[in-house]
Amino acid sequence: MVLSGKVAIVTGASRGIGRAIAISLAEKGAGVVVNYTSRAGAAAEVVETIRNAGGTAMVFQADVAKSAEAIALVKAAGAKFNRVDILVNNAGIIRDNLIVRMKEEDWDAVLDVNLKGAYNCIRAVARRMLKNHYGRIINISSVVGLVGNISQVNYCAAKAGLIGLTKAMAKELGSRNITVNAVAPGFITTEMSAALPEEVKERMLGQVPLKRFGSPEDVAGLVSFLASDAAGYITGQTIAVDGGMVCV
Ligand code: NAP
Repeated sequence: MVLSGKVAIVTGASRGIGRAIAISLAEKGAGVVVNYTSRAGAAAEVVETIRNAGGTAMVFQADVAKSAEAIALVKAAGAKFNRVDILVNNAGIIRDNLIVRMKEEDWDAVLDVNLKGAYNCIRAVARRMLKNHYGRIINISSVVGLVGNISQVNYCAAKAGLIGLTKAMAKELGSRNITVNAVAPGFITTEMSAALPEEVKERMLGQVPLKRFGSPEDVAGLVSFLASDAAGYITGQTIAVDGGMVCV
C-alpha cells in the first residue's frame, strides 16, 4: 500500500471531509490520528470504521485554535506511532454574515480555527518533520479563498490566508523534503454546506459544469494522492476540487 509505514494527523476528522480523508489515508496503509473538538462519539465511529477495515487509528480531542492543544495532539501522535509524516489541516468552521452585521467574535472564531489552527499544528509538527527530512502538509482551503463570497468575509480571509501560508511554508520547508499544498473544495455535501438555503444551493449547482455537488470522497482522493510519494515533486500549489465551478 502506498502509505504503509506512514503516520497521518487529520484535524477535524470526526465527520464530513476530514472523516473521508482519515478513512482514505488508512485504506492506503497510513496509521491515522482522528482529531475532533466536541463530537467524541462521531470520532470514535471513524476510528472503529478504520479498524474494522483492518487499518490503524487513534482518536485525540484537541481544539486546534489553541496552541497548547495542537502541541498535545502532535505529542500524542508521536507517543503512539513514534513518527508523524502527514498533517492534514482540515478543521474548519463558518460564522456567516454580511460585514455590517458580522460580530468581532465571529471574525475571530473563524480566523482562529481555520487559519491559526493550521499555523498551530504546522508549528507543532515542523521540527519533527525537519528532523526526519520528510513531510506532507495539506491545508484544506476553499474556492471562496480564491474568488470570495458574500457573507463570508471572515471565512474567505481565512481560506485565502491558508493559500498564502501554504506558499510560504512550501518555500521554507522544501529543502528538507517537506511538501506543502492546499486543496480548495467547491461545494461538498457535508453538514457545513447543508446549512445553506435551498435557493443558494440551486444557484451554486447551476455554476458547476459537472452538474453535481462533490462528495467528501472526491476531496479525500486528491488529499491521499498529495500525501503519497507519487506527489513528491508537487509543492506550494492550490488545487481545486469543485467540479469545474471556479477556473482561475
Ligand atoms: P464539517 O462537516 O462541519 O466538519 C468540521 C470538522 O471540523 C468536524 O470534525 C469538527 O469536529 C472539526 N472542528 C471544528 N472546529 C474544530 C476545532 N477548533 N478543532 C478541531 N476540530 C474542529 O465540515 P466539512 O464540510 O467537512 O469541512 C471540512 C473542511 O473543508 C473545512 O476546513 C471547510 O472549511 C472546508 N471546506 C468545506 C466545503 C464544503 O462544501 N463542505 C467547501 C470548501 C471547504 P467536531 O465534530 O468535534 O465538532
